Amino acid sequence: MPRLTGKTCVVTGAARGIGRAIAAAFQREGATVILTDLDDAGGTAAAAAVGCTFHPLDVREEADWAALAAAVPTCDVLVNNAGITGFEASPGPHDPEHASLADWRAVHATNLDGTFLGCRYAIAAMKGRGAGSIINISSRSGLVGIPGAAAYASSKAAVRNHTKSVALYCAQQGWQIRCNSIHPAAILTEMWDAMLGDGPDRAERLAAFVADTPLRRFGTVEEVAAVAVMLASDEAGYITGAEFNIDGGLLAGSAASPG
Ligand code: NDP
Repeated sequence: MPRLTGKTCVVTGAARGIGRAIAAAFQREGATVILTDLDDAGGTAAAAAVGCTFHPLDVREEADWAALAAAVPTCDVLVNNAGITGFEASPGPHDPEHASLADWRAVHATNLDGTFLGCRYAIAAMKGRGAGSIINISSRSGLVGIPGAAAYASSKAAVRNHTKSVALYCAQQGWQIRCNSIHPAAILTEMWDAMLGDGPDRAERLAAFVADTPLRRFGTVEEVAAVAVMLASDEAGYITGAEFNIDGGLLAGSAASPG
């Protein structure tokens, strides 16, 4: 039985990667999917491939959210997926000592402001029926420090905490609007290209990145989408303010654990 029949689901940053896989999984589960992205051409092509509707949306822009609210005034599920590391537009440095204020703000504008605006849109779109599911894509980097990507780690930690504020606020209002965060680590998407490169040492770099991951491999976008489907569905009706690590066991221990 499809698990999302009758639900209208919006996914941000879904032209590719994890967002696209979530949109495709939602579509397979019978939802009406609105795939959004700031990349018009990529988003249109992805929506055509998935078989759903595309709506342009730059998550940093309040006006874009207002336009989405006019086009999609009621929504059952929102996935705040759009995110950047900072390395896409700027080689950095992104460490706490040398990062520029402009780079710091750019990462927070997409990852944190975008999630804040998304949650605000979702609450307005869901409160009429007093029910819904907001899924925020944070990161393993929201749970531990990342010396070389300080703004990314800070923004994802803030997403984790804002998720809990939204969950508690909605519960206080007497709504069954749930809000949860997903914390992936090392999911092989184009986001990694800036760090892996496409040189002859790519395979070596890939292996090095997952050397400390207990399952010794990158995760797949489908493995993240499966958890998003569960959180979007009514099966997760009693889950709110929770966080879900999808990290191959990385956060289950530490390098300092006794052998
Ligand atoms: P990708 O870089 O592959 O895809 C991100 C998508 O978001 C792109 O289509 C991008 O468009 C879009 N996007 C970027 N900025 C905006 C914006 N301002 N408004 C709307 N769309 C935007 O990333 P992933 O699929 O790997 O990651 C998805 C989410 O998962 C992110 O939040 C990321 O931080 C998180 N995550 C990913 C992990 C991984 O290992 N892949 C690990 C932990 C967390 P464009 O290409 O035009 O920039």
